[in-house]
Amino acid sequence: MPRDGEVLQSKLDALIRMAKLNEQKQSNFQEYELSLFNTNGLHQLLAIILEQHRTRFKLSDVTLLLLDPEYEFRRLLDNSAEVPVWRKHLLFTEDKSTISQYFSVLRKPRLSSYSPHIHQSLFLDTQSLQSVAILPLIRQDKFIGALNLGSRSPNRFQSDMGTQFLQHLAAVISACIENARLQENIKQVGLLDPLTGINNRRFFDQRIEEEITLSHRNKTPLSCLFIDLDHFKSINDTHGHQAGDIVLKEVANVLADIMRTSDVLARYGGEEFVILLANTDQNASYEIAERIRNRVEDTPFKVTNKDTLSVTMSIGLSVMDEQSDIKTTKQLVNAADQAVYAAKMSGRNRVHHAD
Ligand code: GH3
Ligand code: MG
Ligand code: MG
Repeated sequence: MPRDGEVLQSKLDALIRMAKLNEQKQSNFQEYELSLFNTNGLHQLLAIILEQHRTRFKLSDVTLLLLDPEYEFRRLLDNSAEVPVWRKHLLFTEDKSTISQYFSVLRKPRLSSYSPHIHQSLFLDTQSLQSVAILPLIRQDKFIGALNLGSRSPNRFQSDMGTQFLQHLAAVISACIENARLQENIKQVGLLDPLTGINNRRFFDQRIEEEITLSHRNKTPLSCLFIDLDHFKSINDTHGHQAGDIVLKEVANVLADIMRTSDVLARYGGEEFVILLANTDQNASYEIAERIRNRVEDTPFKVTNKDTLSVTMSIGLSVMDEQSDIKTTKQLVNAADQAVYAAKMSGRNRVHHAD
């Protein structure tokens, strides 16, 4: 009988070990789930999915493929100064079939060994992958993306394994992504100027802080252009307020057209715009300011069927670099503001840089 007892004991031990492991897995998952629910926005949510997920569940690679036909996600994510490290694990497609091709009609997670010709485009760390799980992300019956988990172990994901746990995870992540996307949209609507469609002053106030910090950290110059349209009041007085609005919209279009995507452009107030040029010194920003001034001066603004106006602007330029006394947001903004005033005093339609 002792032999039977030993066998029984070791079976029991194994069961207990398994139960403990399951318990750990469960609590690890619950903690992860809580952190997904407690994010403060889209950026943080994606950081958790693309960084924490890999380390917490000991995976070799985790990527997220999102369906983004209107470039909405990419627009929402571009409005920030720094490109986070997880960004390269975030993949986009405009075409639903790029996602649906991985799943059967049941739309369940697909667990299998890694196969380069099927999975290569979904992962970055393709050298070491042995098995993968491709999880469909679905909201209101439609694919919104796929979460892709890659492991170095061939046994980690096998086609005959149960997928209930992964299905649950995919449902939670789908709901969180959708929720964060909606919230981010609402947040960013509050940072847009309704007339011109470019960013507003609130956005500028946030971004200038980020740009100043980056410029100090990287020891790169940061230029600030304040733009004020000349005699704008007389456009309103002569051609009406609507004509003034058309000019503001068109000027915003011209500015947006000239800017690089990394530059910050905002409507600061009435007929005032502001531009931040990262990593741009005084000579370069003076050239850009002149280019802007010239482009607007040469642009005919058609405000009614019969009226076409020409518009000029005065630009004040300030630069924060290692040599300048300018160190803070307030100093950079004040210097640009005073420079516009000086440009006005010396005759308008010109660029003036802060002394
Ligand atoms: P200066 O060359 O000295 O800058 O002269 P200005 O006429 O441009 O300057 P001022 O600040 O006196 O006038 C700005 C005008 O811009 C006054 C205001 O009615 C007009 N304005 C502000 N916001 C809007 C807007 O959203 N739409 C229109 N049409 N006009 C606006
Ligand atoms: Mg003004
Ligand atoms: Mg003005």
